[in-house]
Parts: sequence; structure tokens; C-alpha cells
Amino acid sequence: MSRGNEMAPKKEGEDKNMGKVAIYPGSFDPITYGHLDIVERTLEIFDKVIVAIADNAEKRSLFSVEERLQMAKIIFKDTPNVIVDSFKGLLVDYVAKTNAKVIVRGLRATSDFEYEFHMASMNRSLNTHLDTLFMMTSKDYFFVSSRTIKEVAKLGGGIEGLVPDLVVRRLKEKFKLPFTKKKKIGWDD
Ligand code: ADP
Repeated sequence: MSRGNEMAPKKEGEDKNMGKVAIYPGSFDPITYGHLDIVERTLEIFDKVIVAIADNAEKRSLFSVEERLQMAKIIFKDTPNVIVDSFKGLLVDYVAKTNAKVIVRGLRATSDFEYEFHMASMNRSLNTHLDTLFMMTSKDYFFVSSRTIKEVAKLGGGIEGLVPDLVVRRLKEKFKLPFTKKKKIGWDD
């Protein structure tokens, strides 16, 4: 054991009984049930998951990083083995400050694959000890992306059941949409 470690800053998620830690990075703009499903399934394999929200000035986001952090913290408040954090800059630099050895990413379609493959390869070339684990989307959420959720919500479409209720409310606030119940049309009203 090296000496002089007493003063070393605590790493995110550091704890003697921490076990296996995975990092799940992304924009989460906003967080969807697709993301939550990946977190849930990652917890079947890892002891802790760090949901790391990218604070990327290059990428225009609907929700500020503070808003995304606040939403995720509320959503995971009863899940002690999930840590919500944000990071700026290179993911590999952020990962180095944590106890995680594995990056988790979700894969929806072959269109996700090329970008993810490049990113995973780049991250591995920046840090050879780092692996990326890909988790296949669930059949219920393969069509869910933050982008389409925002597009549908903006036009007043129903997104209930695809994102947590808190996110539905926040999207309605953003787009200044009324909180009325959807009027049913058709045979079942
Ligand atoms: P990024 O801008 O980093 O892609 P996202 O928030 O869009 O951030 O996505 C974060 C991760 O979650 C990505 O690996 C993405 O493929 C995955 N993901 C997003 N939506 C789904 C979904 N419905 N099912 C499975 N994985 C998903």
C-alpha cells in the first residue's frame, strides 16, 4: 500500500465495499425509460452505476446540465446503488477519477453501432484499461430516444409511458403546454 494516500481526494463512488462499478455516460436530455431500463439491467451485473451526465457546451441541449442532474437525482433518489453526477471534458478523464473500469452504453439499432464503435475504440486507445460494455435495448424502448421524445412533446404528442412522469411535467413546462388530460377520441370513451 502506498503511503500518503490519506489526503487523496475521494473518488466518485469510492467506498471499501463498493464492488464492481460501471459508468453510464450520456446526454440524458431528457432521461427516458430506455435509459432507466439500461441502468436497471446494468445493476444486475454491477454493484453500482454512476449515471454521468455530459456537460457538453458543443451540444445544444434542451435542459441545462443542472436541470438534467436534478431530474435524474429525483428519479434515482430511492436507488442507493445509483450515483448521479455530471462531467465536463473527456470521459476517460472523468472515469479515471472514479472507481469504474467499465463504460456502459445502450444500443438501439445498427445506426447506433458505428458511432458507438468509434467512441469505444477511441476511449480504449486513450485508456487501455477501460472497456465499453454494450447493452441491447429492450423491445419496449427500441424506438425511444431523447431526441424523438422532445420532438413529439413539443408538438403536444403523448409521451406518457416512455419517460418518467417528472420528465413529462418538465417537458410540458419547457414547451409551455397545458397539463390537461388527453381527451379520448374513438370507440373507448
Ligand atoms: P449521447 O448523446 O451520449 O448518445 P444519450 O442520452 O442520447 O446520450 O444516450 C446515452 C446512452 O443511452 C447511449 O449509449 C444510447 O445509445 C443509450 N440509449 C438511449 N436511449 C436508449 C434506449 N431507448 N434503449 C437503449 N439504449 C438507449
